[in-house]
Amino acid sequence: MNGPRCYLLHLDPPLAHARHYAGIALDGDVPRRVREHVTGHGSPLIAAAVAAGCQVRVVLDVPGDRGLERRWHNAHGTRVCPECKPRRRRAAGRQLRLFSSTGAAHAAAPTPRRLAWAA
Ligand SMILES: [Zn+2]
Repeated sequence: MNGPRCYLLHLDPPLAHARHYAGIALDGDVPRRVREHVTGHGSPLIAAAVAAGCQVRVVLDVPGDRGLERRWHNAHGTRVCPECKPRRRRAAGRQLRLFSSTGAAHAAAPTPRRLAWAA
């Protein structure tokens, strides 16, 4: 008997405002649960997404309980989705490059300060 597993479905393209669905397979059989969703025997959201032609992908499948499912749900999936995270990482990388150019200016700044203290 497998323990419960949490899964995150990523909708591409999003259905209106909905980009993710967080769920739990209490028996640990995520593929069976996802089949139920995409054949219209699970969440109405996923049924509507499939009817609208959205691609539904399982992007996370980990051991978890109702608490984890709730946390993912409250985070709207976006903060935990590996498909959505890279976009933020690239944005962060751009910021880091900006900081590194600023950092070079800061790196030069201590020298006058040290001279002021020495004076
Ligand atoms: Zn996503």
